[in-house]
Amino acid sequence: MTVQSDIKTLQHFINGQWTDASDGETFEVLNPLDDSLYAYGAKGSRDDMQAAVAAAKAAFREYKETTPTQRERWLLRVAELMEERQKELIDCLIDEIGSPIQKAMFEFTKGLTMIRAAAGMCRNVRGETIPSDAPGKFSMSIREPLGVVAVITPFNVPLIKTTRLVANALAVGNTVVHLPSEMAPHLTLIFAEIIAKAGFPDGTYNVVTGLGHEIGDDLTGHKDVDFVTFTGSSVVGQHINEICARNKTPATLELGGKSPTLIMADADLEKTMPLVARSIFMFGGQACIGSSRFYVERPIFDEFVKRFSMIAGKVGMGDLRDPNTVIAPIISDRQRQRVKDHIADAVAKGATVAAGGAFVGNRCQPTLLTGVTEEMTVCRAETFGPVTSIYPIDSYEEGLAKANDTEYGLSSAIFTKDIDRAFHFARNIGAGMCHINGPTIHDEAHVPFGGNGESGVGREGTDADMEAMTELKWVTVQL
Ligand code: NAD
Repeated sequence: MTVQSDIKTLQHFINGQWTDASDGETFEVLNPLDDSLYAYGAKGSRDDMQAAVAAAKAAFREYKETTPTQRERWLLRVAELMEERQKELIDCLIDEIGSPIQKAMFEFTKGLTMIRAAAGMCRNVRGETIPSDAPGKFSMSIREPLGVVAVITPFNVPLIKTTRLVANALAVGNTVVHLPSEMAPHLTLIFAEIIAKAGFPDGTYNVVTGLGHEIGDDLTGHKDVDFVTFTGSSVVGQHINEICARNKTPATLELGGKSPTLIMADADLEKTMPLVARSIFMFGGQACIGSSRFYVERPIFDEFVKRFSMIAGKVGMGDLRDPNTVIAPIISDRQRQRVKDHIADAVAKGATVAAGGAFVGNRCQPTLLTGVTEEMTVCRAETFGPVTSIYPIDSYEEGLAKANDTEYGLSSAIFTKDIDRAFHFARNIGAGMCHINGPTIHDEAHVPFGGNGESGVGREGTDADMEAMTELKWVTVQL
C-alpha cells in the first residue's frame, strides 16, 4: 500500500506480493460521511483474479500439510497483531465505511474472538471410526480441506466477516482468494498485512480488490475454486448460487433479511425498550440481522410506539468518534436513494412517520413507521437503513403468522415472560436464528449463524464452517 499526499493508493495482495491492477486501472473509494475521496483501489481484472487463484492453488499443496500447531500459532499471532494495530483498524472502519466508534469497537472485539475461535478449530478437524460389515476391515472417515476457498464479503461488517471466514478457511487447511466489498477494500488489505506478518506462507491468503459485478464471476466460476462463501445481497447471492450449481462448487450464502420481533403484552418494557432500539439502529440500520418489523400486542401498542419514538429521537447522530454516536451515514448514493424511496413510498401510501423520516447529510434519522400495509415497499423489501415498521397484533398466533409471511428467514426475536410461548415461537419461526428476550442482532464465533429462503443457504461459525469447508473421505484398511 502506498500513500500519495493524504490519499491512499491500494494494491492487490497476491502470492505474498503487493501489486497494482494488471492494467493499472483504479477505482475511487469514498468516505460515506461526506463523499470525500478516501482511497484509490486497484481495479482488479480477470488476469488479476486468475493470478490470485493460481497462487492459492499452488500454495495449497504445501499448506494442507501444515500441522494444527503451526496454523494455530499463526492465527494466534494474527490476533496479537490486530491488537497492536487496533487504532489503525478502528480508524479505517470509521473513515472508510462510516462506522461510529461504538460499532467499530464492537467489530474489532468480535473480530479478535473470531480469530481465536478459529485457532481452536485447528485441532478439531476430525473424522471417526466406522464399524464395518467386512471381516477384518478397519473403516474410518477422515476430514480433508477442500483447496481454494473464495471469500466474498459485504461493506457493512468487513472486519467480522473477514476474520471469521478467512480464519476458519485457513484453520482447516484451505487457502483463500478474497474479494472484499469495493466500498471496504482498505480494511481487508490491512488484514492481509497482518496475515503476512503473522507468518502465513505466500499464496495462502490473496486479496483482489475491484468491482464485484465485473470480476466476481471470474472468481466464483473459476474451475480451481473449490468452495465459495458469500455474504451480501440476495440478488447477487442468487446469481452466485446459479454459477456454483452449474459448476458443482459447494457454497454458503449469507444474504439479506427482514427480521421480525414479537412484543407480547406481558413483556417487561423497561428491559425490552433498550434492546429493541439496539436491534435496528446500530450502524444506521445497515445490519443484515437488524429487526425491520415489530409486531406488538394491541394492549401495549400505543405505549410501545410512544417509548420507541422517544428513544429514536435521542439516538446519537453526532461525531463518528463520539462513543454516544449510533447512526452511521448510509454507505452510497444508490443506497441512500433506496432508503429515501422506501420512506417516501410508505408515506405516499398512507403510513405514519412516528419518528424521524428525514436525512441529515448522508445520515437517515432513526425512523419508525406505523400504518404500514402490504402494498408499501417497506413492508417486504430489505431497506438497509435505520427504518422499521411497527404493526399491532391481536394475538400471538397472528404475530407468528405475520412474522412468517416473508421470503426472508434470517434472525428473529420474541419478548415475553411466557416460556412455553417463547419456545413455540423459536420452533415455528421460519428463520435460521431466534432470540428470546434479546435483540435480533447477536452473533458469536462458534454458533450456527445463517438464514433460510432469500436469507441464504448454509451456516457460518466454527463447527458449521469446518463441516462446509472440509470433505469427509472414507478410508478402509484390510487387516
Ligand atoms: P452486495 O451484494 O452489493 O455486495 C457484496 C459483495 O459481493 C461485494 O464484495 C461485491 O463486490 C460482491 N459482488 C458483487 N457482484 C458480484 C458477482 N457477480 N460475483 C461475486 N461477487 C460479487 O452487498 P453489500 O451492499 O455489500 O452488503 C449488504 C447486503 O449484505 C445486505 O443485503 C445485507 O443484508 C447482506 N448481509 C448479510 C449478512 C449475513 O450474514 N446474512 C451479513 C452482512 C450483510
